[in-house]
Amino acid sequence: MKIRLGKAAGTRDTSGLRFMARGSKMRLQIAIIQVTPFEQNCALIWDEDSKAAAVIDPGGDVPRILAAIQETGVEVKDIFLTHGHIDHAGGAAELAEKLGIKITGPGIEDEFLLSGMAEQGKMFGLQARDCAPDSWLKEGDTFTIGSAVFNVLHCPGHTPGHMVFVNHAANFGVFGDVLFRNSVGRTDFPYCDGPAMIHAIKTKLMILPDDFAFICGHGVASTIGAERRSNPFIR
Ligand SMILES: [Zn+2]
Repeated sequence: MKIRLGKAAGTRDTSGLRFMARGSKMRLQIAIIQVTPFEQNCALIWDEDSKAAAVIDPGGDVPRILAAIQETGVEVKDIFLTHGHIDHAGGAAELAEKLGIKITGPGIEDEFLLSGMAEQGKMFGLQARDCAPDSWLKEGDTFTIGSAVFNVLHCPGHTPGHMVFVNHAANFGVFGDVLFRNSVGRTDFPYCDGPAMIHAIKTKLMILPDDFAFICGHGVASTIGAERRSNPFIR
């Protein structure tokens, strides 16, 4: 099964921002919606056969996320969060309420960030509602979007409860703010743990195959092979 990468950033038009996991059993589609002044890559992911969908990291700009859902004609059943930062989770409570669906994740270690979302908003001049997920995720959990199975990897360091979502069948993942094209997540907040993040990247992500493609929380998508060759933070 192969995934073809499209542009994952640089425009606010969701229509040209899809890439597809091609395979005999599963047709997984992804639209990226850049949200918040931080241009966070909110991902709308769906199973083309059933149109069952999930939104990962609705950081804000909820009307634009709803417009993308309407445009694609999918049925969003879940919201998943990689971590508790405002640009990833700031719109989760509002979107969950509007769609009547549940919020899952990240790790319970990020509860202090999610319950302090309004406070985080004040720091950045953004409006956001506190977020109380319906359930938390932990290492080894799985969830499905239609027939696509995602494995949950706990990759702490950027935040204590940061989770990464990988779909081995499609060779595709949503990595949040852990690994970026030629970079890694920031670790300068008081609760960060830089060595733990690098350890998680090396032991859980860099063991994936070269052609494993992933969406980053910000900027363009990449592959494990590209990072293995050129990312200066993980040499
Ligand atoms: Zn973050």
